Amino acid sequence: MDLTLSPSEAAFRDELRAWLAEHHPGEDPPGDDEAFEHRRDWQRKLFEAGYAGFSWPKEYGGRGATLIEQALFGEEMARAKAPQPVNVLGMVMGGPVVITHGTDEQKDRWLRAILTGEEIWCQGFSEPESGSDLASLKTKAVKSNGEWLVTGQKVWTTYAHKAKWCMLVARTDQDVPKHQGLTYFIMDMEQEEVQVRPLHQITKEPEFNELFIEEARIPDENLVGGVGNGWAVAITTLMNERAGLGAAAAAGVRIGLEELKQLAHERGADEDPVIRQRLAQLTIEVELLRLNSWRGLTQIMKRGVPGPEGSLPKWQWGEINQALTELAVDVLGEEGAYWDSPWTYRLLRSRANSIEGGTTEILKNIIAERVLGLPKLR
Ligand SMILES: Cc1cc2nc3c(=O)[nH]c(=O)nc-3n(C[C@H](O)[C@H](O)[C@H](O)COP(=O)(O)OP(=O)(O)OC[C@H]3O[C@@H](n4cnc5c(N)ncnc54)[C@H](O)[C@@H]3O)c2cc1C
Repeated sequence: MDLTLSPSEAAFRDELRAWLAEHHPGEDPPGDDEAFEHRRDWQRKLFEAGYAGFSWPKEYGGRGATLIEQALFGEEMARAKAPQPVNVLGMVMGGPVVITHGTDEQKDRWLRAILTGEEIWCQGFSEPESGSDLASLKTKAVKSNGEWLVTGQKVWTTYAHKAKWCMLVARTDQDVPKHQGLTYFIMDMEQEEVQVRPLHQITKEPEFNELFIEEARIPDENLVGGVGNGWAVAITTLMNERAGLGAAAAAGVRIGLEELKQLAHERGADEDPVIRQRLAQLTIEVELLRLNSWRGLTQIMKRGVPGPEGSLPKWQWGEINQALTELAVDVLGEEGAYWDSPWTYRLLRSRANSIEGGTTEILKNIIAERVLGLPKLR
């Protein structure tokens, strides 16, 4: 692909850069709730300026921007160190799924409130015994008097404690092969039948939760993509999740690398041949990640939907971010063990990068089988 920006793309980037310089909301304040509301205000500002739901069609409140502009947006946000908008799961996964598989009524009901940040979305896929092998999930939904009753347990549900809506995959048919018995619902979290219990991560943050669901009610009109078609809809969600990471993640680690080089220089660690070699290796990998994320975009532009190529930058990003934060902590020496060092936080948070959004082993399987055409594992 041609990596040179067209005059209109360069103009767009400059305009966005100037807007970000003027409207940057500053760092998140301390406290989980305060930080959350800060990000909600930020998302509202982005929406009002026409910068939310960027590549969504204009008729659904988006900007109808090209994917290149979307990628530039991610890069500029990372460059400006702007906070993430609050409704990441709704914007990256929920909205695109409703746009692709939803009815007109569903689009009218949900899309705008995703973009404004009024209604937060979470993703109820993983269960205690079903993570990578998602199709084995056991949460079941039974039709009764024109609505669905859902019972089961979900886990690692990011932002469930803040969410109004949950993208929930449940088993609606026990008697067919596992992939065919699933259905995709949008479940209202504001009901007593859904209990949310926080889980604390290694960073101490309560970012995700367990869900205990006991005969929760979902009206028929909240079913997306048809009964028994949940696997295909879930795959759209996951492909969008990985594709959505691409350019912004590449820009994020590039900035992290610059900070690390600066740190190594200040501490005199860049005189050490081993550290120099690790920095050089990371520099090569960060550039490869940038090129691969653009390659993924090219595929989406050709096909119209994200494909399995999005798995490659997701895998590379996880490995690079872990190597980068490990090197930073090595450079810091004993200071790297202090709890309140920002690099220590980044090191601890990066452990999840090779698990969240698909583990590295699963991504390697996808690339082997679906991109390289190697024989199937089973
Ligand atoms: C920060 C974070 C946020 C998350 N947010 C959400 C969320 O909002 N919603 C949600 O539904 N889930 C969420 N998850 C869950 C995440 O999707 C799962 O953790 C992930 O899919 C792996 O599932 P598992 O934890 O059950 O591990 P398992 O699937 O049990 O895997 C355990 C190990 O076995 C390996 N493995 C499994 N199968 C294979 C195979 N076929 N070949 C080779 N190796 C294999 C895995 O790579 C892994 O190393 C989140 C996870 C994290 C860390």
